[in-house]
Amino acid sequence: RAKAAGKARHALFDAGLHQQVTDRVRLEGDLRRAIEQGQLTVAYQPLFNLGTGRLTGFEALARWQHPVQGLISPATFIPIAEESALIGPLTDFVLDTACRQLKLWQARGETFADLGMQVNVSGNDIAHSGFAQRVTRAIVAARLNPSQLTLELTENVLMDRVDGAMETLSRLRELGVGLSIDDFGTGYSSLSYLSSLPIDSLKIDASFVRGMRSGSKEAEVVRAIVTLGASLGKAVIAEGIETESQYDQLRGMGCESGQGFHLSRPLVAENVELLLDRLEVERWSGQHGQLSRP
Ligand code: C2E
Ligand code: MG
Ligand code: MG
Ligand code: MG
Repeated sequence: RAKAAGKARHALFDAGLHQQVTDRVRLEGDLRRAIEQGQLTVAYQPLFNLGTGRLTGFEALARWQHPVQGLISPATFIPIAEESALIGPLTDFVLDTACRQLKLWQARGETFADLGMQVNVSGNDIAHSGFAQRVTRAIVAARLNPSQLTLELTENVLMDRVDGAMETLSRLRELGVGLSIDDFGTGYSSLSYLSSLPIDSLKIDASFVRGMRSGSKEAEVVRAIVTLGASLGKAVIAEGIETESQYDQLRGMGCESGQGFHLSRPLVAENVELLLDRLEVERWSGQHGQLSRP
């Protein structure tokens, strides 16, 4: 009996696992078609200078509206793309789309000429020998100034020291592209190694920002990262700012820039245009300095 029960449980487990594998294989196929047929889109989350309140640029975030399952989170489809060689074409799509889009927004006038774009890239991307060239192509096609593009990499990707990745990063740096460490504080970087990396900014992970209260451990971690950035000569960006209080604390600590639902959610391109319209109107009506706080 015990044996039979064990067998039944085993069979049940197998069935569940089988289902998971089937779903996953199907989703991968759907993602491949979505990329081929241009069904992915890009959302843009505004970034602000916390001191002046001015809009400084955007983070490009991939979006996938599945025909049956609806909107699927990047937390689900990015790992699938990374494990299935789909990340290359996905990154190319986001890079090209975001660079061209930024150029159009910059072309609206002087006020917007210095806006920047941040694009997330994965470890598989930078391990690929042709990556620096693909980035160059995207910049040239969009006629961007390379310094207006920043690539975001997670800490662990940098620490894994994948063969060839350092060469790619150095080439990107020579090109003038910005490099940023995403989700900073959640990985396992050694500080000595960190200081030797060719990067220009640190993005404080949202988990620390979320836990900020005066005297909280998280607030102290944020303060330490801001200090670290200043000593290493790296800009510091906070992500996941959801409240006025977090905003005020970060500004008080001297954190240079940030993003978060409190400032703006990620927007579809048409809504970015509405935001830019509003900023332009405010500028004409002479409300300098107030420019961009929503
Ligand atoms: P990330 O790069 O750390 O991006 C920030 C994420 O936090 C985004 O989630 C954004 O929508 C969300 N967010 C922004 N402000 C707030 C806030 O105030 N509160 C909360 N709760 N969340 C906020 P999203 O778009 O779902 O992306 C999740 C992750 O997926 C990204 O984290 C990034 O690691 C990855 N990802 C997204 N697009 C791409 C892409 O094009 N390529 C690659 N390689 N990864 C991507
Ligand atoms: Mg990011
Ligand atoms: Mg991040
Ligand atoms: Mg994050």
